[in-house]
Amino acid sequence: MGKNSDYMLGKKIEEWDLSVTNLHRVKQRSYEVGVLPVAAIEPHNLHLPQGHDFLHTTYISRRSCQLAWEQTQSVICMPGLPYGVDCNLMGFPLAIHVSQATLDAMVREIIESLAAHGIRKVLLLNGHGGNEFVALIRQIQTDLDVHVFLCNWWLVGRDKYDEIFDKRDDHAGEFETSVALALYPELVEPNVAGDGKTRPFRFEALEKGWVRTSRNFKNLNDHCASGDPAHASAEKGKKYLDIVCERISTFLIELANSTIDENFPHTKE
Ligand SMILES: [Zn+2]
Repeated sequence: MGKNSDYMLGKKIEEWDLSVTNLHRVKQRSYEVGVLPVAAIEPHNLHLPQGHDFLHTTYISRRSCQLAWEQTQSVICMPGLPYGVDCNLMGFPLAIHVSQATLDAMVREIIESLAAHGIRKVLLLNGHGGNEFVALIRQIQTDLDVHVFLCNWWLVGRDKYDEIFDKRDDHAGEFETSVALALYPELVEPNVAGDGKTRPFRFEALEKGWVRTSRNFKNLNDHCASGDPAHASAEKGKKYLDIVCERISTFLIELANSTIDENFPHTKE
């Protein structure tokens, strides 16, 4: 296993990475599973890169595919879609918004391309809470002979979350800062970070969570964060990322090795 930074960009030819492999090699392979990362470009408190979601999701996708490749030689990591649904963060400079409809159209056509090349198992690896793909998957599986799976990667290790982190948070706090410190500490400026305190809702139903809405982030605070980064560390980030990549790669191996029959993805009985 190389350094974390080895997973950020193609530094050598890897046959599990569509960005860097070539036709000569692709022609000799038979790919079972395509992995498509989808992210967002948005502010993360004052101290994390605006491309954080794109960077961490690319890393997780590449590392998981590499681990799965070692066992299967049939998983391909696609270049990720950097942009995501960010209309509710547009109150902050250089948040970039593309609509869910645009994103759905891109994802759909990429999956159609994969299907045309015989890849009928696809994992959408989502790294941004504002992107929602379940409706698309429901429709696409009705329209095409493909099986699409969705993984919101930050949820993969939730059962271990409280063992690793002090507090639950949801944007650019302890969790995301730990991930950044583990993967690219040189891109983090901890000394400029805000405390991530947010204005609560005025309605109990929203605070309790049995009524939901979409938050406009500029109403939360002035630094586009929800969660305190003060207790973040590279060790915490690494622990969580290791769990995530291990679990995703295990799923990819199982998926690659499973034949599509009439009951797929359910058991035969
Ligand atoms: Zn994020």
